[in-house]
Amino acid sequence: MKKEGVSSLPEVRQRIREAGLRSTTARIAVMQRLESATSPITHAEIAIDLVPQGFDKATVYRNLIDLTDAGLVTRSEHGDHVWRFELRSESEHHDNDHPHFLCLDCGEVSCLSDVTVTINPAPGSKKSNIGQLTEVLLKGHCGRCKPA
Ligand SMILES: [Zn+2]
Ligand SMILES: [Zn+2]
Repeated sequence: MKKEGVSSLPEVRQRIREAGLRSTTARIAVMQRLESATSPITHAEIAIDLVPQGFDKATVYRNLIDLTDAGLVTRSEHGDHVWRFELRSESEHHDNDHPHFLCLDCGEVSCLSDVTVTINPAPGSKKSNIGQLTEVLLKGHCGRCKPA
């Protein structure tokens, strides 16, 4: 989710503590990396930036999972068997934050932050099979890949 600016260090620390975790340098680094992302990113993409800062890949992964379990980060898989991580927005607390768009050509996932999708039963239909909607994923060809 695109954000204006990046939270200050005390703000990040407080969010981590409020979620019931200890605020370690690795967790802060992971949170800040996710905050600066404009779309869901993979563990590998986070590691590329954090390994040079002295965190190893396993540490980055473990902390990503800790933050996910604590509810600060959401993890999603878009049919390509790659987990992508994203900071959960502070303002919205419902599960299906915003829809995502997966490009079938380049595989890039983008956030549709300003789009809401509601599922309405077709007129005359009885009951939907959907118990609880957790994510909406749209697939297609992104602007760069769309054939001219
Ligand atoms: Zn594309
Ligand atoms: Zn998103």
